[in-house]
Amino acid sequence: MYERILVPTDGSKTAEVAIDHALDLAERYGAEVHALYVVDTDAMNLSLGTEQVDRLRSGKFGEMTEVRERAEAATAAVADRARERGIDVVEYQTGGRPHDAIADYAEDEAIDLIVMGSHGHSGVRRALLGSVTERVLRTTHRPVLVVDEHGEGQPR
Ligand code: ATP
Ligand code: MN
Repeated sequence: MYERILVPTDGSKTAEVAIDHALDLAERYGAEVHALYVVDTDAMNLSLGTEQVDRLRSGKFGEMTEVRERAEAATAAVADRARERGIDVVEYQTGGRPHDAIADYAEDEAIDLIVMGSHGHSGVRRALLGSVTERVLRTTHRPVLVVDEHGEGQPR
């Protein structure tokens, strides 16, 4: 049923709860896990030149060391936990609009299931879903499992 599971992560606590679900499913189905971090170029537009934005969009971080380190730490957190459990894992970091990059990756890599958090780093809970998750749901035709860190029968 599931051979390739995509876990987009922004390195947040809620994404971590989603990672747990993704790894459990991967173990059960013998699936490969793909960990994806997207440098949000819209959020960084003000501090970056267009040349840097273009480079980020093609996955080249150049001398943007801090950006690269944050990206690598986010996917490595998934990869480390996957490998501990004997699950095959692919790490990928790129730049762009997160929901577009996530939907494109799912198409390009023939992903069977996307597992992501209901919220992320901003942690603002006035909405049921964060904007990245909401936009992914509106952008992709692939199955998406949304995991809420407060969803385990606990009141909000
Ligand atoms: P908002 O960003 O709208 O202020 P938020 O940060 O709480 O709200 P989202 O950004 O939608 O919520 O995050 C929800 C989930 O989307 C995360 O748990 C993660 O799975 C995924 N995600 C968010 N941002 C990224 C990103 N830059 N790269 C990869 N995955 C991401
Ligand atoms: Mn966010």
